[in-house]
Amino acid sequence: MERQSDYNRLAVDELNQLARQWEDRYEAYKNRNLKLDMSRGKPCPEQLDLSADMLTILQPGDSIQAADGSDCRNYGGLDGIPEAKELFAQMLGVSRNEVIIGGNSSLNMMHDTISRAMLHGVYGSQSPWGKKEAVKFLCPSPGYDRHFAICELFNIEMIAVDMLQDGPDMDAVERLVREDDSIKGIWCVPKYSNPDGITYADETVDRLAGMTAKARDFRIIWDDAYTVHHVSDNHDQLKNIFAACKAAGNPHRVFMYSSTSKITLPGSGVAVMATSEENLQTIRKQIAVQTIGPDKINQLRHVRFLKNMDQIRLHMDKQAAIINPKFELVLNKLESELGGKNIASWNKPNGGYFISLNTLDGCAKEVVHLAAQAGVTLTPAGATFPYGNDPRDRNIRIAPTFPSISELETAIDVFCLCVELVSIKKILA
Ligand code: PLP
Repeated sequence: MERQSDYNRLAVDELNQLARQWEDRYEAYKNRNLKLDMSRGKPCPEQLDLSADMLTILQPGDSIQAADGSDCRNYGGLDGIPEAKELFAQMLGVSRNEVIIGGNSSLNMMHDTISRAMLHGVYGSQSPWGKKEAVKFLCPSPGYDRHFAICELFNIEMIAVDMLQDGPDMDAVERLVREDDSIKGIWCVPKYSNPDGITYADETVDRLAGMTAKARDFRIIWDDAYTVHHVSDNHDQLKNIFAACKAAGNPHRVFMYSSTSKITLPGSGVAVMATSEENLQTIRKQIAVQTIGPDKINQLRHVRFLKNMDQIRLHMDKQAAIINPKFELVLNKLESELGGKNIASWNKPNGGYFISLNTLDGCAKEVVHLAAQAGVTLTPAGATFPYGNDPRDRNIRIAPTFPSISELETAIDVFCLCVELVSIKKILA
């Protein structure tokens, strides 16, 4: 029997025969007591080694003065040291007075942004968002589960919008935002999106910047987490949304975020937020109550280590050299094991941390379950949708960066086998 035939065209006894073969192989894997994890987008130890100098870059006796003369060992500098602002402003394509440097996590900054908006509103709000009968957010899906968790925490109703190949379905976004003033925002991971690896087209960026929003304090949460995280030589280009918002006469619409979590050391990185000066003035006053200032020593370490955009690019090339073979391995395996069978489709991203795969409708949960039984942990099916509910039960997020090549090879073999088994059962049902 030809391996790559469309399973939907196979006769029932051919499918049954295949199912028996796959079941035998599956049982063999189960007996190996594997313990492999492809669930979270974490750098592997070799990637972290690239930032080893971060641990020693500041030595006793070194100058710990920031560019403005302030002593980084002491309190002060609420929104970041000047050289960190300069570097991360360049990374996001904004000016240095349009950024705030935060703590170690951009997710933390996003959470706090939403929290403040619910309690106090944003610049230009007539009342706190939380005082409204309902607050809703658009959630391009599949998307980042931790964004959706923030909405759940604050009781913000999530409206799923389909992700297309050029970004969110903008016809739906424009219609919803125009009609409903309780829709206060949209989550966007605009470059190498989590999990699809899609980069928004210029037209999508322009439409988001220029669309008519019924809520006058509508905000785009622009989580540019993977802005320099290429995995191939083809680098996607993302249009600058802040410039587009200004050009469209909506200069306060976007809150941009990024961090060095997957550039240097996750958990010990530096996070950044960029937005209009008016937005920042409002936010600074609120942050000033929350903290006397961020970890300036960590900011200084980052600037001394990363230096400038050219160095960041070189550093990220080294990261890519480590993870590119892992992406290639997964993509080649998917092609050789599942290609042509009409049971799964997947994206081939140029960057980011994930490969997103769609099974036949109604199969994702069972695939993740079977893989777990054989010792391979995947992100829970549904996690990439609001409320953990993938209406077609088909999306699975594969995170190839953390396991070693040999672990990954076994894990993806088990995964493909599970897709085969569940698909055949689905077709036979
Ligand atoms: N945003 C996206 C899209 C992510 O995928 C992640 C981590 O996986 C984060 C934010 C978390 O970033 P940070 O470590 O800066 O909180």
